[in-house]
Parts: sequence; structure tokens; C-alpha cells
Amino acid sequence: MDINCSAEELSIFETVGRVSDQMSTECYLIGGFVRDKLLGRPTKDADIVCTGDGIALAQAVAHQLKPKPHVSYFKNFGTAHFRFHEFDVEFVGARKESYRAESRKPDVEPGTIQDDQLRRDFTINALAVSLNKENFGKLTDPFNGLADLESKIIRTPLGPDITFSDDPLRMMRAIRFATQLQFDILPEVFDAICRNAERIKIISQERITDELNKIMAAPKPSVGLDLLYKSGLLKYFFPQFVDLTGVEIIEGKGHKDNFYHTLQVIDNTAAKSDNLWLRWAALLHDIGKPATKRFEDGHGWTFHGHEVVGERMTPRIFKQLKLPLNEKMKYVAKLVSLHLRPISLTKEDITDSAMRRLLFDAGEDIDDLMILCESDITSKNKQKVKRFLENFEMVKERLIAVEENDRIRTWQPPISGDDIMHIFNLTPSREVGVLKNAIKDAILDGVITNSYDAAYALLVAKAAELNLQPVNTVARQEENNQP
Ligand code: ATP
Ligand code: MG
Repeated sequence: MDINCSAEELSIFETVGRVSDQMSTECYLIGGFVRDKLLGRPTKDADIVCTGDGIALAQAVAHQLKPKPHVSYFKNFGTAHFRFHEFDVEFVGARKESYRAESRKPDVEPGTIQDDQLRRDFTINALAVSLNKENFGKLTDPFNGLADLESKIIRTPLGPDITFSDDPLRMMRAIRFATQLQFDILPEVFDAICRNAERIKIISQERITDELNKIMAAPKPSVGLDLLYKSGLLKYFFPQFVDLTGVEIIEGKGHKDNFYHTLQVIDNTAAKSDNLWLRWAALLHDIGKPATKRFEDGHGWTFHGHEVVGERMTPRIFKQLKLPLNEKMKYVAKLVSLHLRPISLTKEDITDSAMRRLLFDAGEDIDDLMILCESDITSKNKQKVKRFLENFEMVKERLIAVEENDRIRTWQPPISGDDIMHIFNLTPSREVGVLKNAIKDAILDGVITNSYDAAYALLVAKAAELNLQPVNTVARQEENNQP
């Protein structure tokens, strides 16, 4: 079997085979490594299965390598792992499994290689290549995985209802592989996913989200997201996304199907950027639409404020999906809240100060926001799209010109919120925000210059309206660029 390994990989595999011969066990490369090598995809780790004790084999192999890698292992699962020169190698003893209905934790007992192949999720993941000297490199393919690899088909080794019911995570994996590899799920396998969808409830959200993120990172995430919807899986862990589906018609007027619009926006974004979180912003950009949908007589469908509702929904959805509650979440929420702003600047009579405000609000994320906004243009009307894109280019050029002049992206007003609290002896409060924004707006609108003295004079005047007097002085900041 020609699977095009590097000299380094080959040398490790030969060592594994030699040690395995000495221990009188059979051992095979199996799973993702074999599949990806055959497909010519990059691989970073290899799984090795042997008859008998996988941990013992890993330790014996590690002894033969220089420098000797550290072996970590899980006794309960019979798995061991080491990393040798950036290459991850995972060892497991061949197993036979039977599952109980209420859990995905199987009862496991030692088995043959064939038993082990049978418990793999898909035929393309059950391909095994022997490493023993006697038949080094020979492919063992009991379920015609090679043929499925060639015809680009996802099929289960067992009846699909058994495979999915045993471990419902495999339903997510089927859809993930279909998306990543651009394979088709066999119709009867997909039907089994539809039948077993509800069993996804026993899988932890972390593992579901892991698969979801792999779908989101694929070249065309819409493929997997649509399959998740059509199979019925999506509603069990992400009902807000399903709420975007459908078209309502009143007085002959319909709105667009926001689910399929969103899928298009995600793909458009994915074509322009690998940033996973930008893709999440695309997924969530219209998530506030169902909650804000109204039919206004004589006007049609409106979704006023959906960007604000979407911004507020973002942290809740991140928590529900166990996505990180850190600056990534804040970045996504910010892009959702700003996603209409660049388009609003394509109207005529837009002042430089509107441009400055957008640059200030988006800060370093302005380029990502522009990608999102451009991706959001999905009209079927070619003329309309052309006009939009032309206007959009003009906005981009003006933003660049304003930024070159005024350096807003990294600009901060000359008096900070901390300064304001100190000057008036305030604790964090609404007043601090009001005063801070008054300074920012006055400078961005060109009402006052971008200087400490002008800002201070405005601050004292605004504070007086709130019955506040300065009680402390602060050290003056060095003055930065002029907006
Ligand atoms: P990738 O590494 O790109 O996620 P992979 O196929 O290598 O793809 P892993 O999760 O690394 O996936 O698993 C390695 C192998 O273990 C798989 O190829 C498959 O044979 C088997 N496997 C993994 N998860 C399952 C599962 N839930 N059910 C059955 N077999 C599985
Ligand atoms: Mg893998």
C-alpha cells in the first residue's frame, strides 16, 4: 500500500512493527491517518491499534526512540500517547464493544483487529495498514472503505441505526466529515441520522461544539449546517439558529429565509477569511431577527433593532454552546452589533464624522467588519448587488482616507474614564459614561479639537449640567494624533 509517508514517519512505523513482532502482537495503522494519507490531506497524528496491550507496546516503542519520548496513558481506556518530533502517535489495544442505552460509555473487552474495525464509525475510518514485518504496508479493508473513499461516500460498517445509537456523536462526525472532505452521506445513513437525532441529547455540549467548530472551519460550512438542520440535530442544541428558518407571507409580501441567507453569508465570509470567530459573527449576525420581526402596513417586513438584540443574545448562545466566554465572544458580539453600519454609510451625504465614528467603534476590527458586511450582500438581483458593491467600494476608500488622516482605529480620547472618575471623585457609574461619550463625540464631530485643554473645558461644562464640580487634577496625557 502506497501511502506516501515521510522518512521520519516511516522510521517510527518500522520501529513499531519490529517491537510488535518481538512482543508477538499484530499491529496496524488505522483511522484518520490512513484515510488522510490516501486522500493526500495533511496529517499531524497517527493512531495505532494492536492485539493485546496498547500501553505496553507504546512504552516498548518509546524505549527504542532517541530521545526517548514521554508516554502518557489512560489505564481505564487502555490508550497511550507520545509525541516524537512534532508527530503525535496514539496506541490502543484492539477492542470489542457493547453499549448500554443510557450512556455512550461502552462496556469494553479485548478483541481482534476485525472486532476493532467493526466498532469504528465509518468505513473510510476503518482502513488499517499492517506494520508487522511479515506484511508491512498491507491494507486491511473489510468494509470496502477504499471504494467509499474513491466514490466519496460516508457509510457505516454496521447497520447505521446501531452505529448511531451506540454513540450518537457519530451523527455529528458524519456531517463533519461530509463537510470537511466534501463527501456524500449515503441516503440510508442520513435517514438513520434523522431517526436517531434525539439521542444527541446524551452527548456533552463540549463534544458537540467541537464538531460544530470543525464544520465552521471547513471551506464551505453551509454544507454541514444545512445537514444539521435537515437531519433534525440542530434543534436539540441550537434552537435559536433553527428559528431563522422559514418565510412568512402577509398581503403577498414575504421576507427572505434568514437561515439560508445566513448560510450564504457564512460561506461568503469563509471564502475571504479563515478566522473562525468572523465566521461565528456571520452565523449570528441576524440571530436577533425572529425576535424583532414585524409586519408594518404599507411598508412590509421590518427587523428594527435586530443587531442590538443579536448582540445581547451572543453571550447567552456562547454560554449555551460552551464556546469561550472571553474576548472572542466580545469580538463576535461587537461585529453583530455593528454589522449594519458600513452599509448605512453607502447612502449619500455621509459626513466624515460618521466615518470616524464607525472607525472608532470598530477599532482594530474594522477590516473584519467590512468582510462581514460585504458578505451580507446576497440579493439575487444582479443589478442591485453590483450597485451595492460599487457603493461599498466607495465607503471603503473613504474609510481609508479618513483613517490615514485621523488615525482613529487606535485613537483614544485625551481624557479617559479613569481620569473622569478621579477628577470628580466618582465610582463607575452612568455619569462617567455620559461624560466620556460627550468628549469622544465632540472630537469625532469636529466640535472641539483633539486636545487635553479643549476636552477638559468641555468636560467641566458638561459636568456642571450634572451638578458635578472637579475636585482633583490629573496628570496631562501626551496628546496624540488629531482626528
Ligand atoms: P480528525 O483527526 O480529523 O478529527 P479522525 O478520523 O482521525 O479525524 P479522531 O477523532 O482523531 O478522528 O479518531 C481517530 C479514529 O478513531 C477515527 O478515524 C475512527 O476510526 C475512530 N473514532 C474516533 N471517534 C470515533 C467514534 N465516536 N466512534 C467510532 N470510531 C471513532
Ligand atoms: Mg485524528
